Amino acid sequence: MSLVSPSVNDKNRIIPPELNVPPRLLLGPGPSNANPRVLQALAMSPVGHLDPYFLQLMNEVQTLLRYAWQTDNPMTIPMSGTGSAAMEATLANIVEPGDVVLVGVMGYFGYRLVDMAGRYGADVRKLVKPWGRVFSLEELRQGIETHRPKVLAIVHAETSTGACQPLEGLGELCREFDCLLLVDTVTSLGGVPLFLDSWGVDLSYSCSQKGLGCPPGLGPFTMSPRAVEKLKNRSTKVANWYLDVSLLSQYWGQDRVYHHTAPINMNYALREALRILAQEGLEASWNRHLTNAKLLWEGLNDLGLKCHVHEDYRLPTLTTVRIPEGVDGKAISRQLLTEYNIEIGNGLGELAGQVWRVGLMGYNSRPENVLLLLSALKRVLN
Ligand code: PLP
Repeated sequence: MSLVSPSVNDKNRIIPPELNVPPRLLLGPGPSNANPRVLQALAMSPVGHLDPYFLQLMNEVQTLLRYAWQTDNPMTIPMSGTGSAAMEATLANIVEPGDVVLVGVMGYFGYRLVDMAGRYGADVRKLVKPWGRVFSLEELRQGIETHRPKVLAIVHAETSTGACQPLEGLGELCREFDCLLLVDTVTSLGGVPLFLDSWGVDLSYSCSQKGLGCPPGLGPFTMSPRAVEKLKNRSTKVANWYLDVSLLSQYWGQDRVYHHTAPINMNYALREALRILAQEGLEASWNRHLTNAKLLWEGLNDLGLKCHVHEDYRLPTLTTVRIPEGVDGKAISRQLLTEYNIEIGNGLGELAGQVWRVGLMGYNSRPENVLLLLSALKRVLN
């Protein structure tokens, strides 16, 4: 063995300039700008993840998430990770190899559910809708009757299309067929009416960076007692250690046993974001999102632009705008960013090149942002 220690290689020792973040207005599919109060909370000094102060804060975050989702599920926590981590947690915990999982696919994120469920060994079946449309209850009933799934998974607010899937009646239907209902609420939590318990939703997940006005980094997650029962009765181990709710519940429940180091500051931030939502009140927040979305839709119409989704099931949080014939959509969104510091999204998947995606979520759902975007759009389109 050589006793000569290697010399330090400075090849990667760069000293980048000081952080100088451009003042972007994030009106795309997410993240949205965080409320300044949330950013202040994020900047506070971390405490230990088993500190009594933090344990109390965890309880508050859980309670406030239950409020935001209108559920009393004891198993309601913020997963450490983005929305996709919480999404994966729902499937990892509930799917046992061979379980039939029926996914209602109406856009990009439905296909992500299909992919994830398959990775946990599910026998995945799909019902597919054109991008921008939603399922009727009857179509979902037929799907359940045909496939007899253990889990029906569906996206409430499909961020790739701007469509809002109605959920009323679906919980009863799933119970009739002894099937669990899993719903993606990433682009609806905080901005669109959600009543998880009344609607019989068994599993749901969301994100911190959209309707809650917090930076990305936590994935709210909830599981009904019915779903917890299925987890308890598994004959196989959850195939994902990090997201295993039976382990996580020992930290988030009474026992307070270390599992992984919670992202302390992100939890401060989420608590502040949820505190802001509770101060405003859910109905006021839902109404604000709808009012500002309507202002946007009117303004787009005045500019001669068309929305991709029918108004009956158009999301207030995310609007897909048809790119007019002959217009280079990407060039326009680039110009909005470079000349006006406004980010909007380009189309995703099947809608790439056909639509822009405009998000008005959480702290960003304000009339002044709508008017700013409309006037910038008018200039770049002329
Ligand atoms: N589901 C939907 C509907 C989404 O819009 C997103 C992200 O935009 C996700 C899941 C994944 O969330 P994240 O990007 O936070 O991992």
